[in-house]
Amino acid sequence: MKKMSKIYVAGHNGLVGSAIVRKLESIGYMNIIKRTSKELDLRRQADVNTFFEQEQPEYVFLAAAKVGGIMANATYPGQFLYDNLMIQSNVIEAAHQYGVKKLLFLGSTCIYPKRAPQPLKEEYLLTGELEPTNEPYALAKIAGIKMCSAYNREYGTNFISVMPTNLYGPNDNFNLETSHVLPALMRKIHEAKMNYALAVDVWGSGEPLREFLHVDDLADACIFLMKKQNSEDIGEFVNIGTEEEVSIRGLAELLCDVIGYDGKLLFDVSKPDGTPRKVTDITKLRELGWRPNKPLSDGIIQTYEWYVENVVKNERTAEN
Ligand code: GDP
Repeated sequence: MKKMSKIYVAGHNGLVGSAIVRKLESIGYMNIIKRTSKELDLRRQADVNTFFEQEQPEYVFLAAAKVGGIMANATYPGQFLYDNLMIQSNVIEAAHQYGVKKLLFLGSTCIYPKRAPQPLKEEYLLTGELEPTNEPYALAKIAGIKMCSAYNREYGTNFISVMPTNLYGPNDNFNLETSHVLPALMRKIHEAKMNYALAVDVWGSGEPLREFLHVDDLADACIFLMKKQNSEDIGEFVNIGTEEEVSIRGLAELLCDVIGYDGKLLFDVSKPDGTPRKVTDITKLRELGWRPNKPLSDGIIQTYEWYVENVVKNERTAEN
């Protein structure tokens, strides 16, 4: 990938796509193509083909997807399946048709079986039943991995897939109904502090264990892989994580520390816990030559500053 290579980042406004664009621009890539979902609906194959025919991208980061937390998955299972299957199938097929040199497909560690041994190794894919709270999303992502490897086998393409753990950072979704836990608790704790509330509501028991990767680390890993590794080096896909776990309670306490809130945490056990534990094994990624470098506490401090500067200020402006 050269500094003038034509690179299409699908999903450039999202958490992942925006981090990839930031990183690419910061290291001198000058020919990045972006389209909003209004300009190009990736669920429409004919439109996607026309776009690829006109633009002829050489490299594609496929970060466009319908994403959301535990409640969004439960509320919109049809949209999670349809949108994700369509977006990824259309982009992968067009990448093949129009001779893209390399494509990187982003999935998630929810592709692993609910009862897979921990930490999660790549070889555990399809060895058991999925976690029901995010099955539609996981099924779509598994289809994407298999499509990339099938195209590599059948057409000799160079399509690679990565499975990041739970992500967070600037441009995350802070909507309480559809977001993931870290931005949701950041917002709830911030608002509790501002409103002098005595307690904050945390869904589930607080016991589940999760691993959180700052999206700038993910972007760094994706660009590293795009530049340096081919599908035959990577195999079907590679995990991207930190291998560090924290309980939901521990995460809430860390957020309280950063935000400066000393009220109580109230655990609402009527809400689902989801999978009890989800931590990646990143041996393969380390062997390929990459490791994460942003500690969770630093990443939370930076994300909280971004949240206050962007989300809180914008909402205040909108109210006035
Ligand atoms: P998951 O990692 O796919 O299960 O998705 P989430 O990030 O949505 O949830 C992770 C865990 O955090 C689950 O056990 C949730 O019940 C718990 N959790 C606690 N409070 C919240 C909250 O306010 N929002 C969300 N989305 N999850 C929460």
